[in-house]
Amino acid sequence: MNPIVEDIKLKIDIVDIIAEHVELKRAGQNYKGLCPFHSEKTPSFMVSPSKQIFHCFGCNKGGDIFSFLMSSEGMTFQEAVSYLAQRAGINLEVRSQTGSPKNRRFFGTEMTEVKSGIKEGLFAIYKESLIFFHNNLKFSKQTISYLNERGLNHETIEKFSLGYSKNERDSLFNHLKSKGFTVEHIKASGLVNPVRKEAPSKLSNGVNSSGLSNGVNSNEHGIYDFFRDRLMFPIFDLQGRVVAFGGRIMSPLKNAPKYINSPDSIIFKKGDLTYGLNIAKNSIAQKGYAIIAEGYMDVIMCHQYGIANAVAPLGTALTPGHLKKIKRFSDKVLLVFDGDAAGTAAAKRSLELVYACGIAAKILPMPSGEDPDSLLKKHGEGYFRRYMSTALTPVEFMLRISNKSKLDAVRHMLNAILKCPDNLLKDETIRQLAEKSKINEAALREEFIAIRQKALKPDSNKQKPVNSILNPILNISRDEKILLSAAICAPEKSHLISTSINPEIIENPLVRGILEKVKTIAGASIIETGIETGIETGIETGIENRVFIENLLAICSSDEQNLITMLSINPEIDTEFADENIEGCLRALTLKNIEKQIKSATETGDIKLLKSLLIKKKNITGHIKGRSLAKN
Ligand SMILES: [Zn+2]
Repeated sequence: MNPIVEDIKLKIDIVDIIAEHVELKRAGQNYKGLCPFHSEKTPSFMVSPSKQIFHCFGCNKGGDIFSFLMSSEGMTFQEAVSYLAQRAGINLEVRSQTGSPKNRRFFGTEMTEVKSGIKEGLFAIYKESLIFFHNNLKFSKQTISYLNERGLNHETIEKFSLGYSKNERDSLFNHLKSKGFTVEHIKASGLVNPVRKEAPSKLSNGVNSSGLSNGVNSNEHGIYDFFRDRLMFPIFDLQGRVVAFGGRIMSPLKNAPKYINSPDSIIFKKGDLTYGLNIAKNSIAQKGYAIIAEGYMDVIMCHQYGIANAVAPLGTALTPGHLKKIKRFSDKVLLVFDGDAAGTAAAKRSLELVYACGIAAKILPMPSGEDPDSLLKKHGEGYFRRYMSTALTPVEFMLRISNKSKLDAVRHMLNAILKCPDNLLKDETIRQLAEKSKINEAALREEFIAIRQKALKPDSNKQKPVNSILNPILNISRDEKILLSAAICAPEKSHLISTSINPEIIENPLVRGILEKVKTIAGASIIETGIETGIETGIETGIENRVFIENLLAICSSDEQNLITMLSINPEIDTEFADENIEGCLRALTLKNIEKQIKSATETGDIKLLKSLLIKKKNITGHIKGRSLAKN
């Protein structure tokens, strides 16, 4: 294994990393939690500290610390390595220069180095930009008086690190360069734009926001700042790192949008980040619910008035990404919407989404023309809290907005809860629907079942992604699973099994592939520890088994990894009777294979082959009979 990867695995515990994403509870030797890769109510996601692997027995996804980060955070392998190396305090640059030629190929080429460094570089650039914008604010009288007009106090401005981007062509760019960032890195941040020569008048987004006449003249690098003359709202991730900015224009110009966001990047996905969650998370957990407002100013004002559990999506409609992040802290939300038609439609659309995420929601339509920001300023915290207590359950909300057609509201609700993974929430909603609509509950449940059955039919194709993970594993015969379990969990037998087995008797290509790889690794470890002592002393302890599995996972495909982690955490072999188990499986598989050959020899009429096959078969079955007789 690559020494850096090895080093990371020694220094970082997979349980610590996964616990940052999943709530884990001890379960015997392992930890258990709700799977982050599929929606479930009872935990089937297991983490093994002794083997440093995870496996979900619901969707059958499994792997090591690297595959976990790759799947849950969308990192590439290189990014996962550099992220974990940083956490473990391993210096990649030094290592890549002093490593063996093989490792240098792994990390040392310019491209991969730049790539793995990009994320860290972006964090640093955004942090420096935050400081720059925040310092600018002191000197912009216009922005400060705007903030005062909006009623923001000094403490709030500091708490949300608000800032100002100057009305200049490239002041941020020059500042970042003076801090030693390379032009390439600054370009990658999205905080500057290259000028497109062919269409200077149609430049995107923030370009026309500048006060410069006639579009923008770029500097000698062909670059100008993306945000100019805007009040800057830094956007933080859950770890409190600034990953993007929102900017509100200060001197409105024709064609310039009022608000713009920095573009999506490898550290920022608009649909995943919730504004204010880094500040609000503790309060959300304490209060037991999150307030989801519509804009930055609503969030900021709520916090200023002591309502510290308020967050907002970033200029987009609510997404599952937002809700998943919020759900880490609470599974209840209060959705604040405008009281107008657009707000009502948006609230209606959100219902299906919150139910699908298993979140219990209440809806708070604002009085016409008001938002939390204006309401708080006019009437204060006490009034706002009283107003919050008038929030409606989804059932009440739907019945109220469609007072002319009760049945439409009922059907909309039944459809909205279809994908809800929380049976109690579903049940409670139907019960409430019956009570409030005065429709017989049994009739509602019947209708719900009918809607569900209708919805399931066209959906059966959509289920495939989960099944495609499941199928290659579920199709494996028990005998092959036992053999593979033995090869993985009793590594002192790995070499024996993988070398003595005739690959032809293994039907499942995944199992065949893994055994092939076991052979390489088990062979290598015997060579390393010495042939004589290798089998007996080399691979017996738990640590040795862990290293063996780590080495194996490192060279396996993701389907193969899923199977290995499943059998490592839940071996299909009784270790006390391992030898008997292995022998039995080998015989059964050989027999199955001979029978297949007999069938084809019969079809082709190859008498000579048929005879020899029948003798082989007799030898094996005779052996089985003899053994079972001896046992009796
Ligand atoms: Zn799962």
